[in-house]
Amino acid sequence: MNNISNSEKKSLIRLSQAQLNLLQVCPPQFQRVYLEQLSLPISPDVQENLLWGNQFHQLMQQHFLELPLDSILDMDQDLKKIVDSLLKSVDEQHHLSSQSWREAEHYLSLEKDNYLLTAIYDLLIINENQAQILDWKTYLQPQNKQKLANNWQTKLYLYLLAEASEYLPEQISMTYWFVKIPHEPQYLTFQYNEQLHQKTTVELENLLTNLDNYLLDFNQNNIDLHHHKNCESNCPYYQSFFSDKGYFSNLEEDNNDLLSTIDEIEEVSI
Ligand code: SF4
Repeated sequence: MNNISNSEKKSLIRLSQAQLNLLQVCPPQFQRVYLEQLSLPISPDVQENLLWGNQFHQLMQQHFLELPLDSILDMDQDLKKIVDSLLKSVDEQHHLSSQSWREAEHYLSLEKDNYLLTAIYDLLIINENQAQILDWKTYLQPQNKQKLANNWQTKLYLYLLAEASEYLPEQISMTYWFVKIPHEPQYLTFQYNEQLHQKTTVELENLLTNLDNYLLDFNQNNIDLHHHKNCESNCPYYQSFFSDKGYFSNLEEDNNDLLSTIDEIEEVSI
C-alpha cells in the first residue's frame, strides 16, 4: 500500500505496517508521504535493492505455488545455492509437511474503528495447533533484535492473525528469514503470547487515537501533524518541515538523509 485510500464501501482508511511505522516515528513525514502523497525520488541503490527484493519474493511465491524454478535458477548458480539452502533450512525449521496448509502472499485485513488494518504474509503455514508467519528479507540479519520486535511489521502481523483467527497468541509465531548472497540464510523468530497481544492492542489503539486527532486537525483546520518532542533535538530536519520555504530543496538527498536520521533516532529511543 503506498497511500491512504478510503474504502468505497465502508469509508475505512487502509493502514499497513509501513504507514504505522512512519506515523509512530515521524508524523510530519507521514503527512508528506501519505496525506499529501508527495512521492519522493529514491536513490539508484535503493531502487536496485527493491528490484532484487521483489524478484526474490516472486521466486518464493512461485516455489510455494509448486511452479518449477529450474529455468531461472540454472541461469544463476549463486542464486540457486542460496535458494536451495533457504528452502532446506525453512523445511527443517518449520516442519513443512503434507499436513500443513500454506499460502504465499496471504492477504489479511481487519476493521478497527475507522481503519482497515492490512497485512500480506510472505508465507503463512497453518497446522492444527500452530500458525507460523514467515517473512523474507533480502539483507543480512540485523544486530538489534529488539528493534525488529518493536517494528510494526512484527507487531501488526502477529496481532492481526491473533484477532482474525481461532489461534491463541501462544500458538502464533513470526519468523524473518534474511537472505543475502553469498551468506548462508539466517533467521529470527518472535513467539507471540497474550501479554504481548495486550501490549500491542493498547499501543495500536493509542496510535489510532492520535491519528484520529491528526486527521481531524489536518482535514478540518489545516493544521500540520506535530513533530515528536523527544526527537526534535536530534533531528536536523525539524526546522525544514513546513517552513515558508516549502519542502526541502533537494528532495532525493534530503529524503534519504531524513530516513536514516529517523532510523538512528528510533534506535536511540529503544
Ligand atoms: S524532529 Fe525529525 S524525526 Fe522527529 S518528528 Fe520531526 S522531522 Fe520527524
